[in-house]
Amino acid sequence: MEDEARALRMLDELRAKAEGCTKCPLSATRRRVVFGEGRVGLRVMMVGEAPGREEDAQGRPFVGRAGKLLDELLSRVGVDRRMVYITNVVKCRPPGNRPPRRSEVEACREYLLGQLEAVKPRLVVLLGRVAIRAMLGEGCSVTSVRGKPLVREGRTFLPTLHPASALYNPGNLMLLEEDMATFRRLLEG
Ligand code: SF4
Repeated sequence: MEDEARALRMLDELRAKAEGCTKCPLSATRRRVVFGEGRVGLRVMMVGEAPGREEDAQGRPFVGRAGKLLDELLSRVGVDRRMVYITNVVKCRPPGNRPPRRSEVEACREYLLGQLEAVKPRLVVLLGRVAIRAMLGEGCSVTSVRGKPLVREGRTFLPTLHPASALYNPGNLMLLEEDMATFRRLLEG
């Protein structure tokens, strides 16, 4: 309980800082900073790419179509997404939903690292190429790491696809379903 309270305090402070952040050009075009949300008690995080239109409007991560698919995939394996802490690599929406630039990822890294420090996750699900590369290294190939849990510095990472990639692609949807089943097993383990 004390750990949770400490984590929530740290996250609140970091959120306040991010809400006034102008460290990269995305600050000029965002409507809302999308910092992250969810419970911290399970010590599990999901990290996506960047906010989209709906997230930018609401100030909450994964509330658009891809987010709804993620909710559904999680619920099929018996996980309520509110149990995990969900965020993105960058906290402000790139115009036109383009992928964030490397400079933007680097500018925003302090917030992601701060969230990791606060939540102290034992398990981190990386949703898509941007999250995989931000956490595991720029040279990382998504197809070679996808679906394979790996442990670094005592923390388990599960790289998978971004749910947006499965909206119109049944093959990717199947892969995501497989990975969510793996996620469920890791949660129990
Ligand atoms: S994306 Fe990150 S670094 Fe850039 S303005 Fe937003 S909070 Fe700051």
